[in-house]
Amino acid sequence: MEKIYKHCQSCGMPMKRDELGGGTNSDGSKSLMYCSHCFQDGAFTRTNITAQQMQAFCIEKMVEMKIPRLFARFFARTVPHLERWKN
Ligand SMILES: [Zn+2]
Repeated sequence: MEKIYKHCQSCGMPMKRDELGGGTNSDGSKSLMYCSHCFQDGAFTRTNITAQQMQAFCIEKMVEMKIPRLFARFFARTVPHLERWKN
């Protein structure tokens, strides 16, 4: 059985905030692990990216969404610990 994650395991966004309800696997089913921004048709939308780059990207996105940078940094602190970035 697939584990259900509350947050995207690539960018850390809460899955319930994903307007598409999750990314898509190559067979068209929903990904329970990654959001629609990170994962489409069984592949990551941004490849060759490090956890630190993803973290910086997330902070910029949140700032765009009018979240104060201090909070954005706080929310993004978990990014390097998500499943995608574990070796
Ligand atoms: Zn994501």
